[in-house]
Amino acid sequence: ESTGVTVLGLGAMGSALAAALLDAGHATTVWNRAPARATALSARGAAAPSGIADAVTAHPLVVACLLDHASMHETLDPVLGRMRGSTLVNLTTTTPNEARELAAWADRHGVRYLDGAIMATPPMIGTSDASILYSGPREVFDDVRPVLDRWATSTYDGADPGLASLFDLAMLSGMYTMFAGFLHGAAMAGSAGMTATEFAARATPFLSAMTAGFAHDAAVVDGGDYTVAGQQSLDFSDLSHIVRASEEQGVDPAPVAAVQALISAQIAQGHGAEAFARIYESLRARAEVT
Ligand code: NDP
Repeated sequence: ESTGVTVLGLGAMGSALAAALLDAGHATTVWNRAPARATALSARGAAAPSGIADAVTAHPLVVACLLDHASMHETLDPVLGRMRGSTLVNLTTTTPNEARELAAWADRHGVRYLDGAIMATPPMIGTSDASILYSGPREVFDDVRPVLDRWATSTYDGADPGLASLFDLAMLSGMYTMFAGFLHGAAMAGSAGMTATEFAARATPFLSAMTAGFAHDAAVVDGGDYTVAGQQSLDFSDLSHIVRASEEQGVDPAPVAAVQALISAQIAQGHGAEAFARIYESLRARAEVT
């Protein structure tokens, strides 16, 4: 017999999570702040009590997919005391410290807490393209895993509840920085009349090939020696000509100027002959002081 599950939050993502559970035959109870969002799922067989207290006590496994950290407290503060002994899987996006705070809050109420970070869009839920990261007590992950695996490839990242969020946001940092760099390039090419579509056709194979450099830089960072042979030096990586070209074309150089600032800082510290990957040290130094 499959586990019954309550899903709180029926936005685009929560609705996809609940639908995948119904598809897999789980008894599913749903709740959303604006009740109209439960209609389609209730037509498909989900129970949809109007009160949050009835929803969180319907099953010993409660999944939340709300907007943010504040909405978790707003929704669950009034009823967490009635969830003693239950398991709360939180798939709402939060920062690592917000996830740690929620884990301690759940713990004070005798609720088992697993944090999750979804690396997928709603249509990908229930397909092999979806990936969800989890962190919190290993035994909680193992207990609920048959349910988690209905949605995505489930990855356990460790006992610290902040880790799933941290690793998710670390990946998204790379993604957004790459997209900003792509759009900056499109604006440069666009200043001479190339369409963004034409630029994308050129940039996609080039940038895809460049991702092979991640493993190369990673080996240098992990080795801790930025002087090893075969590296492109910081001096050679000076991007001021890209910044100037952007300005000449009337295009804001902000994304590439940010990279140039990291390079310049390392050169100013006397590391110009060392590898480009050394900008990692500037980023890490900032992390240590904050
Ligand atoms: P939506 O904007 O579609 O839905 C937001 C949901 O949060 C709604 O159910 C809304 O309820 C609810 N909500 C907002 N504020 C409150 C509150 N104060 N109290 C109670 N409920 C509240 O967002 P998504 O479904 O797309 O995203 C949900 C979570 O999933 C977010 O944390 C998001 O970062 C994460 N996520 C989403 C992805 C995506 O591609 N969509 C990808 C990865 C993660 P109401 O209907 O009443 O407003």
